[in-house]
Amino acid sequence: MQLSPHFSLAELTRTSRDIPNEPDDAALTRLRLLCSEVLEPLRLLWGVPIRINSGFRSAAVNAAIGGAKGSQHLRGEAADVVPVGMSAEKAMEMLAKAVARGELPKLGQGIIYASGFLHVSIDIATKPRQQLLRSSAAGGSGGPYHAYRVAS
Ligand SMILES: [Zn+2]
Repeated sequence: MQLSPHFSLAELTRTSRDIPNEPDDAALTRLRLLCSEVLEPLRLLWGVPIRINSGFRSAAVNAAIGGAKGSQHLRGEAADVVPVGMSAEKAMEMLAKAVARGELPKLGQGIIYASGFLHVSIDIATKPRQQLLRSSAAGGSGGPYHAYRVAS
């Protein structure tokens, strides 16, 4: 099932764990909004395909991979993405400039991780935070987080 022109439900629910990962109707609705309001605009901005490392996570999947409690992934509001053929640094810089231009009005957070992926989320029920962060985690995820500034 397609959620938007370039993103399928299979991509947004993929998990390396052998654990059920089925969104309920509410999470499915939020996944569609994540695709249409955040991922499709980013695909257009970056001009390259986007690989989804992790989108929706059931509580069991989130626990198994050590995801944050209360993570937006649990609600279908976040995805960890890698733009194919573009560095995460370049992608984050373009994302930050697009946010500054007001082009991603629903963006909750954009976070760049040292291991080379971006976490992006949508804020639906609240005023979108438009928050840009850099994680200096030694591992693949988690903090500490710092306000994002373009690397010079
Ligand atoms: Zn994430």
